[in-house]
Amino acid sequence: MYNFQLSEERHQFQEMARKFAEKEIKPLNDKFEDDWETHRYMTQVLKKAAELGFMGLTIDPKYGGIGSDGMTTMAVLEELAAVNGGVATVIGDTWFAQTPIIIAANEEQRERFLRPLASREEVNLGCICMTEPDSGSDIEDERMRFRTVKTILKEDGEHYILNGLKAWPSNAGIASHYIVVATTDPKMEEKGSGILVVEKDRPGLSFGKIERKMGMAEDQNREVVFENVRVPKSNLLGKIGDGLRILQTTVAYNRLGAGMISVGMARGAFEYALQYCKNRVVGGKVLVKHSLISAMFADMATKIDAARLLVYRASWALKRKDPNRARYSNMAKVFATNMAMEVTSNCVQVMGSYGYSKEYPVEKYMRDAKIVQIYLGPNEMVQQLIGENL
Ligand SMILES: Cc1cc2nc3c(=O)[nH]c(=O)nc-3n(C[C@H](O)[C@H](O)[C@H](O)COP(=O)(O)OP(=O)(O)OC[C@H]3O[C@@H](n4cnc5c(N)ncnc54)[C@H](O)[C@@H]3O)c2cc1C
Repeated sequence: MYNFQLSEERHQFQEMARKFAEKEIKPLNDKFEDDWETHRYMTQVLKKAAELGFMGLTIDPKYGGIGSDGMTTMAVLEELAAVNGGVATVIGDTWFAQTPIIIAANEEQRERFLRPLASREEVNLGCICMTEPDSGSDIEDERMRFRTVKTILKEDGEHYILNGLKAWPSNAGIASHYIVVATTDPKMEEKGSGILVVEKDRPGLSFGKIERKMGMAEDQNREVVFENVRVPKSNLLGKIGDGLRILQTTVAYNRLGAGMISVGMARGAFEYALQYCKNRVVGGKVLVKHSLISAMFADMATKIDAARLLVYRASWALKRKDPNRARYSNMAKVFATNMAMEVTSNCVQVMGSYGYSKEYPVEKYMRDAKIVQIYLGPNEMVQQLIGENL
């Protein structure tokens, strides 16, 4: 039995997210693109988001957060992404980075790491460092069991010395906490796997150039370099050997986030295109009166709803530790991200050249939708995981 009804509290957060997105994000939507290097407008948005408590949405009130459940978090993510998928990705990625701490940290570590990450006074973002230049999908692929991880942890008394290079992580350079996927030796596979928290000010931590991308200019992606970074052993989550399990649980929760960002973006594009087509006259009648166009909108609305329901089902299953929860999460990710690519592209199509124009918001949704089919596990890899699970 499923129950996807939002509680009164969930409705409040959803409403708060909707108003925040309309008031603080939407007016800046045409500014983010040229701000990809300086990140001034995002700094402004994130400050407001922190003040409202969004950074600590998933963190227990014991550590200064709000402690919302997965379905509330998904409802918030949809509202943010309906206005801007890049901003939703930045905030979603700080939650992504918090997940390993929430699921695997001891009490002392929770107090030390989660409290600053939930702060309303200052913006403290998390950055999850998985991808490496020679290995992206494989690091997230549970079947590879950390064999391709080249970021190395070496014991040195009460410390680990960390060496390696991470590519592409969101919030790189601006985050305060780096959650690093590493190994003592890739040949040890799962037994050598570890997840380490590295604070930004540790000597030996530096950043490469900011990546310029097709979309999602709001998200700052750059290489993260670890050169003999000394990190206390007390920053390791769990123990050596737990890394694979922690990463896989983290990924299961966050693939849903990718799914819901896609639902939000598809809805944002859909709502705009529908309104446009109610007014645009072609062949003597408004576009929505053409049966082909009307059928396209019917199909889009159905698929957006179907994707949202898959995300909620997976969120429900995760909360209840359903044995199929990882598969449900993977299914939601693949379906929702493919749906968003199709829907946003169709929204451009029905608006003609105006859909393709930067004067209108729909083309950005389409560009942003593309990467969500790739990040958090490219769909081809995730589809194989679903197939093998079946
Ligand atoms: C905006 C953005 C945000 C990101 N955020 C983060 C982040 O926060 N943290 C982080 O660590 N990384 C992040 N990444 C990196 C991203 O997760 C990786 O790029 C992604 O996992 C794919 O890795 P890759 O680019 O190395 O592609 P590869 O692994 O080289 O894969 C290339 C292609 O091969 C295909 N493929 C892959 N695996 C299989 C398979 N098993 N079977 C069949 N086909 C397959 C897919 O089509 C895939 O797209 C981000 C990237 C972007 C652009």
